[in-house]
Amino acid sequence: MPSMLDAVVVGAGPNGLTAAVELARRGFSVALFEAKGTVGGGARTEELTLPGFRHDPCAAAHPLGINSPAFRALPLDRYGLEWLHPTLPMAHPFPDGTAAVLSRSPAETAASFGPRDAGTYRRLVQPFLPQWDTLARDFMSLPLTALPRDPVTLARFGLAGLPPSTWLLRRFRDEKAKALFAGLVAHVMAPLGGFATSTVGLVFALAAHARGWPVARGGSQAISDALAAYLKDLGGSIHTDYEVKRLDDLPPARAYVFDTSPTALARIAGLGDLYGRYRYGPGVFKIDYALDGPVPWTAPEARVAGTVQIGASSEEIGTALRAASREGRAPDAPFLITVQPGVADPTRAPEGKQVFWAYGHVPNGWTGDLTDAIERQLERFAPGFRDRVLARATAGPPELATRNANYIGGDIATGAVSGLQILLRPKLSLSPYTTPHPAVFICSSATPPGPGVHGMSGHNAAKAVWRRLRQT
Ligand SMILES: Cc1cc2nc3c(=O)[nH]c(=O)nc-3n(C[C@H](O)[C@H](O)[C@H](O)COP(=O)(O)OP(=O)(O)OC[C@H]3O[C@@H](n4cnc5c(N)ncnc54)[C@H](O)[C@@H]3O)c2cc1C
Repeated sequence: MPSMLDAVVVGAGPNGLTAAVELARRGFSVALFEAKGTVGGGARTEELTLPGFRHDPCAAAHPLGINSPAFRALPLDRYGLEWLHPTLPMAHPFPDGTAAVLSRSPAETAASFGPRDAGTYRRLVQPFLPQWDTLARDFMSLPLTALPRDPVTLARFGLAGLPPSTWLLRRFRDEKAKALFAGLVAHVMAPLGGFATSTVGLVFALAAHARGWPVARGGSQAISDALAAYLKDLGGSIHTDYEVKRLDDLPPARAYVFDTSPTALARIAGLGDLYGRYRYGPGVFKIDYALDGPVPWTAPEARVAGTVQIGASSEEIGTALRAASREGRAPDAPFLITVQPGVADPTRAPEGKQVFWAYGHVPNGWTGDLTDAIERQLERFAPGFRDRVLARATAGPPELATRNANYIGGDIATGAVSGLQILLRPKLSLSPYTTPHPAVFICSSATPPGPGVHGMSGHNAAKAVWRRLRQT
């Protein structure tokens, strides 16, 4: 290691790894320090239940990963990353055994919403599909880390996306489209009536049509391992089992880049109350299952989808989100996001068996047990589910926060995705990746474009770092 490094990165989540790679591939010397024993943060894979069952404790489905302009520019396939596509990216079943679907095909998706809403859906997504790659790059580079390549489409997207998702839902007449879109917004734990929440639904839908919602062969760890292997080939060093508590714990460097919560960064770098107004959102309660076979969904579409959303109606979903985010109580009928990687990836479990995860939203810091409510929901849509369970690993907010210091109070988005904080995080600033300390930067999902395994916060932050390094 040189006596003075160009950059030190704290935290080896997808954003920390991407920031480190982006700097190393531009010739800067980089070292990365991670508190846990393995790299990956929210993109890891572990045998959480039984031998041979490879679970993703956090992210498992990757609409944002496969569509990420940052990942697409890196040779991750050469380092072992392979995207595997289920027949359907996502299904949203209903208690009567029917389902709405998010398919690669906009026409199939529209048809699943029924004749009264099919045209509305096509008109909603069609204008953006041909420009998706440019739009994704422009949108995920906001605010102002790169000049928009197509400002007109970005502005049109802003007009469609800035209203609350409740406005978007009103465009549809039937529950199929309404519930599916309400569920999409809930992926980032945003309140349905929140500013700019239509953007969330649109991004997930467009991502499905452009490149799908794949899983990574072998588990999400493959994404992190590919980034880490590339970083090492570029000359970067990685130090695990190294929790950073103070800047003095780190070697001398010209820049320190934090893939941590804003609160931790302020504490470690001695920046006082810099992020005192930053708000954390609701937590989640997650269960990883080892199953004795596939989930017995009633709706056939759900049996071939990688991700399955569980919420009987947009109203039920809204009620569940409100309970967790505003009313300080766990929902009776939680909205569930579930992922079954085995429909696309046979390597996750012994032959004939499956791994499966489900989570529901709970208040930040909640210490109860949501297992029964989650399984009652699953039984509504997959009768006999409980009979397939071989083992389960449960994690509520305290366990999630122990697994990863960034999930404060179980908030897996590292900061509420509501109000202006949905776009302007971690502060109201046009330069969200910098801090008042000229050598300290932040690159976690607490910065734009927010939560998800896409590395774009790391990419954008790296840009701010190399601009500063080239000036000094
Ligand atoms: C249950 C769950 C399900 C999810 N599902 C999906 C999904 O299907 N698809 C998707 O795209 N996203 C999903 N996400 C979100 C996604 O995982 C995160 O948004 C993403 O991992 C954020 O990346 P990051 O690099 O900002 O931070 P993280 O991935 O949280 O990584 C931060 C890293 O920093 C380390 N660290 C923190 N503090 C210190 C310190 N002081 N010293 C050293 N190291 C430190 C942590 O140990 C961690 O490794 C899910 C998250 C969870 C928890």
